[in-house]
Amino acid sequence: MLIYRGSTGFCAGVRNAVDTALAHKKDRVIYTLGNLIHNDCVIKSLEAVGVFAVFDVNSLNAKDTVVISSHGAPKKTVERLIEKGVKVIDATCPFVKKIHERVEKDCADGYGVVIIGDREHTEVKGIAGWCQDAQIITDEKEMDFSFSDKFSIVCQTTFDLDKYREIKKNIQLLATKLYKIVVFYDSICYTTVERQKEAVLLSSMSDAVLVLGDKSSSNTNKLVQIAKKKCNFVYLISNVSDLKSVQIQNISKLGLLSGASTPTELITEVINTMIETNNDTVIIEDVKESEALTQVEEQKTEVKKEKKEMSMKDAMKKYAPRQYREGMRLKGRVVSADNTGILVALDNAGKNDTGFIDKDEAEMEGAYSPENYKPDMELDVIIIPKGNDKNNKSINLSKKAYDALKVDDERVKGILAGDEFELSCTQEVKGGLLGKIGTYTVFVPASQIRMGFVQNLSEYLNKPLRLKALPPKDEPEESEDESKRPRNPKRIVASQRIVLEEEKAQREEDFWNSIPEGSVVSGKVKRFATFGAFVSLKYMDALVHNSELSWSRKKINSPDEVLTINTTYDFQVLSVDRENGKISLGYKQLQPKPEEIAMTKYPVGTITKGKVVRLVKFGAFVELEPGIDGLVHISQINHGWIKSANEALKVDDEVEVKVMGIENDRITLSIKELLPEEEVAQAPMFDINLGTDEEKPSRISQFNKRMEGQDRNDKRDRRKFRNEDGDEPREYISSSSVVTLADLFKQNEKIDD
Ligand code: SF4
Repeated sequence: MLIYRGSTGFCAGVRNAVDTALAHKKDRVIYTLGNLIHNDCVIKSLEAVGVFAVFDVNSLNAKDTVVISSHGAPKKTVERLIEKGVKVIDATCPFVKKIHERVEKDCADGYGVVIIGDREHTEVKGIAGWCQDAQIITDEKEMDFSFSDKFSIVCQTTFDLDKYREIKKNIQLLATKLYKIVVFYDSICYTTVERQKEAVLLSSMSDAVLVLGDKSSSNTNKLVQIAKKKCNFVYLISNVSDLKSVQIQNISKLGLLSGASTPTELITEVINTMIETNNDTVIIEDVKESEALTQVEEQKTEVKKEKKEMSMKDAMKKYAPRQYREGMRLKGRVVSADNTGILVALDNAGKNDTGFIDKDEAEMEGAYSPENYKPDMELDVIIIPKGNDKNNKSINLSKKAYDALKVDDERVKGILAGDEFELSCTQEVKGGLLGKIGTYTVFVPASQIRMGFVQNLSEYLNKPLRLKALPPKDEPEESEDESKRPRNPKRIVASQRIVLEEEKAQREEDFWNSIPEGSVVSGKVKRFATFGAFVSLKYMDALVHNSELSWSRKKINSPDEVLTINTTYDFQVLSVDRENGKISLGYKQLQPKPEEIAMTKYPVGTITKGKVVRLVKFGAFVELEPGIDGLVHISQINHGWIKSANEALKVDDEVEVKVMGIENDRITLSIKELLPEEEVAQAPMFDINLGTDEEKPSRISQFNKRMEGQDRNDKRDRRKFRNEDGDEPREYISSSSVVTLADLFKQNEKIDD
């Protein structure tokens, strides 16, 4: 046979009462007011050591010692005992004591007190004795609602939990219909709840159930009733002799329950008897071991949660309602609503009070309308300060503030997930700034306010900061420095610096992606150097070299010849070196080329004026206008022969020229074309004195030789130039020169450099 054993032994309240009585007994007789516990065996044992029960206060004399049992006693009874001079030792169970306090207070506050329980039970009589005109009911039909407009409803500590829930629900419905206020104090004690759940579980999985306890014990009888709902063979065993009625041999799985006032001795005795009767008996204290549990897994888990024995102190702490305080969040139900606000029944771990939501504290948005708050509607509320009215005894509530906190909670959830948020900090502390999001504190360390050092923290107070939460750090040690304090769930450490750094990195990425080579960018000229100009492209500076400023043959000595500081121009991106952070720009690339202007402005055949800007061995460069110049080859300077252009021209001379050709970026000009023919005839190319007629042939012969020599030199030069640039097309060779125009321009550039 398998025995599934539930919780056994005295509950904490009974254990306390018995121990108290024995501790005070010493060498003299002491009394208990009524039976200390509902168990005949224990009572007999107590009597054997000199602890006797008395049922009439009058039978006690001054200086007698009386122990009040765990069930408690009416207030008047206790007062009478004290008046008589009887020494009263109060062993009322703290759970029961709480009910006394509750009904006493609520009664004083004008509530009609209702006790759900057995009117004949000592505990119920005791509770009723701490208030006036208490109604004692066993179901909702017995309740008289005409008695009051508001009711405080408590329950016997050992009442059937399911039955209580049913009654509570029905009373709430009735109260709603009748517009009555009902507040419940869920006062069934944890031992009762635990053992009743075990009764459900063990009776579900057993062939038979033994409930050990006294017939007069309320909680033992409840266990019997509960077990009978699931099992056909349930036996109340008050002593070992009761086992005779049990057909132990026919049972393979036995559930063993015991009431809160059943001594462990009885349990041991019963188990030993069964072992003697059935050799195969196995005791399973941990019902987890049973395969039968699979059917009732859910119930088992629930019971297991509370199975662990608690000290009375722990139990009181666990089950006691929390103290009301400002900022406490509670659930409540609407009792009624009118134009002034909403009356709410609060649920605080079974302690039912009412609170009031002023109409201004109801809605976050929109106008308050009492019609929107129907009786029994569930509300989330928060306790807010009472204000200046010292007589205000009610609990002031706010739904609006709760809703706002919920919004804040959602916001903080997003923030902790990495969302950026804006906040103005309002307090300067050591190491940074503090701000608030609802009930959350946000700390911004000084080092996280900006990318650089923050000299004066107060400059950032009350100004919106763009922030992101920093990941939590393990900093368990307390520190004066806010930044080093351990993180608590209501504290967020945030940084504006990471927002700025992320943006900078993104800007940098966008910038580099926006300037591919060949693209056109706009930039402001910031400063000049001898070799070029620095241009600001917002994110960084770029360089325009002098050589990239103008198409002109004239050498650019300083960028201010083309650009002006603080002026914005368009530039072409020539090269990008992201690794070294260098960008080269060109300005001239976006300007029309000289030959393009010349094509329209100075077509071939145009006669115009220009200024000699440079003299070279093979001719002169004449500027038609800034940026546009052409070459007058030495052979095109005049009709005669000159050795060098400076024989006929000098820099800055203004000359009239004819455009002879525009090809391949080159403009060729001629002065000679515009010189009159007669000048050709008259103008001697060379100042040669041919002498007398007789001397003329020899002089001509000498001249011819000189010309031949010159011609040889020219041929040598021609060979030399053509060797350097053998691909030069013939048509670009001047008709009067063996040097190509390209050669001449190249040579000019070499000279310029
Ligand atoms: S059953 Fe509960 S209320 Fe009653 S004495 Fe035990 S612990 Fe206290």
